[in-house]
Amino acid sequence: MRQHLDACRQKGQRIGLVPTMGALHAGHASLVRRSVAENDVTVVSVFLNPTQFNDKSDLERYPRTLEADCALLEQCGAQVVFAPSVEEVYPEPDMRVFSYPPTDSVMEGAFRPGHFNGVCQVVSKLFMFAEPDRAYFGEKDFQQIAVIRRMVEDLELPVEIVPCPVIREESGLAMSSRNTLLTPEERVLAANIYRILHESTMLHQSVGATHDYVVQAIDAIDGLQVQYYNIVDGKTLADVSSWDEADDIVGCITVFCGHTPIRLIDHIRYK
Ligand code: AMP
Repeated sequence: MRQHLDACRQKGQRIGLVPTMGALHAGHASLVRRSVAENDVTVVSVFLNPTQFNDKSDLERYPRTLEADCALLEQCGAQVVFAPSVEEVYPEPDMRVFSYPPTDSVMEGAFRPGHFNGVCQVVSKLFMFAEPDRAYFGEKDFQQIAVIRRMVEDLELPVEIVPCPVIREESGLAMSSRNTLLTPEERVLAANIYRILHESTMLHQSVGATHDYVVQAIDAIDGLQVQYYNIVDGKTLADVSSWDEADDIVGCITVFCGHTPIRLIDHIRYK
């Protein structure tokens, strides 16, 4: 891959990178299509990164569909699929520690210790392998983009981070590789998450009341349980207590769905 991309770079071609963990769906495809439109060469990495999983059973049951992924990527016009083995990415255990509080210490950072450290480990390696001009990330993982932006600033990496909007099912459910683990009944339940988040943007009440409305409405549905709901400054991810505290205000939620249970994340923009 390096040799191929070096040759592309020598011809003055621009390289776009889309990091993924596979089990690709229309959400991933939207990132790939955007990269194909904006760059000469699009590289998609398909790598189920073990260092970002703090829960081993989550890693074990994560869907793996490399053949179908490659077919989708070809349809989207990606030129390179990079699907390395764990040994290739981590010939030695990665001992690097990344710390960008509060972006990586709140919400997912608090409930999944070590998660963002693993994300920074793998994304920094992918950036070193592919040396992309641009890298595409979905706002589906809203917090991840804030953490990666801090890492790019910290390491002074010459890569432009391009955030892309969430792609949703018709029901409003944010597309996710983990959705394939939901039963049809659980999928119906899960659609309530975005419905309630969206309703909460029309309440026009205080931040505290809006927060409580979302948590109570979701928890009232049998089979759904909120792990956290934080209404935060979209840039720093610090909690806000009033709507005029920041220009950019986002509600970030994690909900357990069903019996297994499957952990689903979503967010909504208030401002
Ligand atoms: P993953 O394979 O879950 O690590 O996701 C790879 C990239 O695709 C990440 O930047 C995600 O944020 C993005 N992504 C996943 N689901 C969606 C979605 N429904 N809409 C937009 N981007 C997404």
